[in-house]
This record gives sequence, C-alpha cells and structure tokens, in this order.
Amino acid sequence: AVPLVVAINTTMAAQNGMLIRDRIAMEEARNLDTIVFDKTGTLTKGEQGVVDVTTTDNWDEDELLAVMAAAEGDSEHMIAAAIRDEADGRGLSVPSVREFEALKGRGVRATLEAETAVTPGADVDTDRVAGGETVYVGGPNLLRYLDVELGRDLEMFAGEAGERGQGVVYLIRDGEAVGAVALADVIREESYEAIDALHEMGVEVAMLTGDTEDVARAVSDELEIDTYFAEVLPEDKDKKIIELQEQSKLVSMVGDGVNDAPALTRSDVGIAIGSGTDVAVESADVVLVENDPRDVAHLVRLSRKSYRKMK
Ligand code: ADP
Ligand code: MG
Repeated sequence: AVPLVVAINTTMAAQNGMLIRDRIAMEEARNLDTIVFDKTGTLTKGEQGVVDVTTTDNWDEDELLAVMAAAEGDSEHMIAAAIRDEADGRGLSVPSVREFEALKGRGVRATLEAETAVTPGADVDTDRVAGGETVYVGGPNLLRYLDVELGRDLEMFAGEAGERGQGVVYLIRDGEAVGAVALADVIREESYEAIDALHEMGVEVAMLTGDTEDVARAVSDELEIDTYFAEVLPEDKDKKIIELQEQSKLVSMVGDGVNDAPALTRSDVGIAIGSGTDVAVESADVVLVENDPRDVAHLVRLSRKSYRKMK
C-alpha cells in the first residue's frame, strides 16, 4: 500500500500542476543539491526575438522597425516573424508593400506602396522612406551580396552582438545600412524567479546546452546561474549529470527535448517540462504540466514540507 503521506502529497502535487511518475523522486526532491536546467525551450522560449536595436544618426528605432517589418511582411523566415512581433509589440503602424522578393539565405527585398508614409517616432520627419522606395533586409550574406560596407557604429553593434552569440539583421536603403536589430533566443520571464527561489532554498543551479560558449555565458550571467556546460553534444548530456553525482551530489535534470532523455533518466530526479517531447516525459520522474520552470522550486518546497514530519 502507498503510505498516506505520499498519497496526500502526490495529490497536492497534481493540484500544483506536477505529475509525479515516481514517488521516490518526490521524496528525494527535498534533498537535491544541484538542479541542472536544459537551456533552449526550458529556460528560454526556444524561438528568436529582437533583443537590441540600433540606427544611424537620422533614424529612429520605431521608424526602422516599421520599415523592416513592412519588408518582412510576406517572409516565412523565423527572423521575419521576430521582427514583425517586435513592431507589433511596440504598437507601430507598418506601411504596406507593393513588391516582395525573398532572397534565399540572404534576406528580403521589398518595394513600399507608393502611397504609404512611415509613421515616425516622436521627433522624426514623416517622409524619410518615401512610398515606392525599395529596401533590403538581411544579414551579413546580404551585405556581401549588395556590396554594402558598414559604418563604424554598426560594425561595433555587430561585433558586440556576435560576442553574445546573437545574429544581426540590417535595413539597407539606397546602398547604405541605416540600422540593425540583434536577434537571440529569448529568456522566459519565469526563469528569473525560478532560479532566485532555488537559490533562496540553498539549491545550486546549473545549465546544460549544446549551444555555443558565448550564448551559454550570456544566458547564465543574465540568470545568475552558478555553473554552465556549453557545447555539450546530445549524447554527452548524461555524462555531465554523472560528473556532478560523482562529487556526491544529489542531482536533478530539467529538460524538454529528446536530447535530454538520457540525462533525465540518469539524474536522481528527472523533471520534464510539460510541453516537452514524449520521450522526455517518458524518461522523467516528474512532469511539470504547466510548462513553468518555477514549478521546479515548488516541487522542492512541497517535498520539504511533506517529508519533514516523517524523519
Ligand atoms: P538559417 O536561418 O538557418 O541561418 P537561412 O539560409 O534561412 O539559414 O538564412 C541565412 C541567413 O540569411 C540568416 O541568418 C539571415 O542573416 C539571412 N536571412 C535569411 N532570410 C532572412 C529574412 N527573411 N530576413 C532577414 N534575414 C534573413
Ligand atoms: Mg531543449
């Protein structure tokens, strides 16, 4: 028979959006030393977003984004969606486009509708980009293709973004790059609180990712994560868990992907984020149904509360 206290706290867990697949793990959660998070799709949204914007002297950020969003209107590229979302989020009115061409692997070319004027930001002249003008939006490959040289400021912007592992996309008008956006996988708002809460409970937090050193460091610094492992091949993720366990640590892995399955199985408490793949869910001891990293802290708290009385 299932001890009463276990039955009660699995019910409580369920009410809190946690599906307990292994009751022992629920009990062990209170003693965890280190919790290892997968980065992409767990701490971050797993999709591109605009994280930085810059313009040359005469341009205003909103104006730049409105024109970029217009040019990207018909593109199916993930980068285009990120730019449109940013314009949308800023409540910009985006001009219409008369002609559009996707330049595969480079960007887009678009001609603005003759009658459109760009809605400017606060102190900007109304007709900087005239109707009927053709503009280009794209990355470094497009610059090369159009033989466009960057000015000093844009060069610096691109350099800094590159160091953070971010991609840069430019608006080119009249043979000149007039502004750029930096794009990155965006950190989920809930991740900050999740990591804070774990630190307050005295739990160490680590991050595990196949992504580059630059990207991993940036995310880890931003979230104040204690340790990170970057450029880890999918088949090596579980080895990092073993390394931590060999330092006589009780280790939990939190992840969403097929890649994470061996690490989830290997860890003392494997936690799958709810929107994850079936393989991740099958390999986990606990499933966070609400897909919220803060529930990792809730799990530890609930485990401590439930089992304190039992010792
Ligand atoms: P990937 O997106 O996998 O890097 P692509 O061939 O789709 O490969 O694009 C290569 C590069 O071309 C992108 O990184 C970007 O710099 C540029 N690019 C492609 N499509 C677009 C677009 N619609 N808008 C802006 N830049 C683009
Ligand atoms: Mg992932």
